[in-house]
Amino acid sequence: MKFKLPNEALISLSHELQPVSTEALETNHQGRILAGTVTADRDSPAADVSAMDGYAIRMTQVQPEASLPVMGESAAGSPAPEMPSHGVLRIFTGAIVPQGCDAVIKREDTEELGSEIRLKLSPAEISEGQHIRRAGENATKGSTVLKPGIEINGAHKATMANFGCSTVAAFRPVRVTILTTGNEVGTFQQEAPMPWQLRDSNRESIATLLAARNWISIVSVEHCIDDRNQLHDTLADRLKTSDAILMTGGVSMGDYDYVPDVIRDLGGKVVFHGLPIRPGKPVLGAATNDGKLLLGLPGNPVSATIGCQRLGIPLLACMAGKSDWLPKAPVVQLANSGNKSIPLTWLRLAKLVDNGVAEPVITQGSGDLVSLGNSDGFVEVPPQQSGEGPWPFYAW
Ligand code: AMP
Ligand code: MG
Repeated sequence: MKFKLPNEALISLSHELQPVSTEALETNHQGRILAGTVTADRDSPAADVSAMDGYAIRMTQVQPEASLPVMGESAAGSPAPEMPSHGVLRIFTGAIVPQGCDAVIKREDTEELGSEIRLKLSPAEISEGQHIRRAGENATKGSTVLKPGIEINGAHKATMANFGCSTVAAFRPVRVTILTTGNEVGTFQQEAPMPWQLRDSNRESIATLLAARNWISIVSVEHCIDDRNQLHDTLADRLKTSDAILMTGGVSMGDYDYVPDVIRDLGGKVVFHGLPIRPGKPVLGAATNDGKLLLGLPGNPVSATIGCQRLGIPLLACMAGKSDWLPKAPVVQLANSGNKSIPLTWLRLAKLVDNGVAEPVITQGSGDLVSLGNSDGFVEVPPQQSGEGPWPFYAW
């Protein structure tokens, strides 16, 4: 096989994909991908401020055993008062440090005697500038505070708010069509299927994984029977309104597996067809000549769900403009892992049992929806390796 590891296949296919365009975004930033930089509209902090509750002092007043009158105060939310030439000012965390103040003495380092204070520290223990946050020490006006390619979260929103940024350039969401295939699969979700029929579970797992990302917009979720012409026409039509099509089923070597042929008929460039992974080996990754993604996942529900998470989401993230689109999964120890190894990347269903600890979920195979439903995600064990790891863990 062309690629040894999943990420090699992803990187290779990513070169064929076209990122989506950008737009100005005024509201609902969360989960969207930033396309421009956010810059500081003023220094942060905007002025010298106190880092502590205490007393603002001039260095000339720092003397052994000095008793110093408290001449006033500087409170948060008020402009700076004048610094007295003799004595100190009471000052609060975040309040402006007035011109002429050289240091802040913490309250705990003073003896408070009503209208005056006595310093508990010796002059050698007080340094110029202590407990003062300088204007611009976090960022100076005009500097970059957020870079393009991030998925905007609450921390980013706080930074944006601090610098008065509400409208940003964002990548527009990637438009995705989900297309399940197979004559045995039906939309009788509520009714009882015949024994040779199946309820469509892939549409649910894939749509749910995609819907959790605000940088994805699901255009439609549909089903196609195993008919070459119908599959061709459906794909050709959905490509008009989608940036990517995620398919399940029909991707192997069976007589009814038309997905590879139809993708080629449509001019798709197949970057991989088959990867050394379990489950999900028959997976097909292709791109149209205008950079749209065609991902054919195997029909088995465990393969389709794992393949969507491990391969589909990163490729869509790349198209969505995310700079860190290759997954960086946290690692877990895999308790009770056994010592079996396989010559493939093994994506094992797992359940978290403690902080940083997971256990394999016993499964009858890639059609076992009970084991899928009992899992929190899967661990990725590299080829020929076994044991507790730690291994990367991909949560649902
Ligand atoms: P295929 O990859 O088309 O050979 O499909 C493999 C197996 O996956 C089928 O025999 C079905 O048992 C199952 N399958 C395919 N599509 C779905 C689906 N949408 N939902 C649930 N199971 C499916
Ligand atoms: Mg099929």
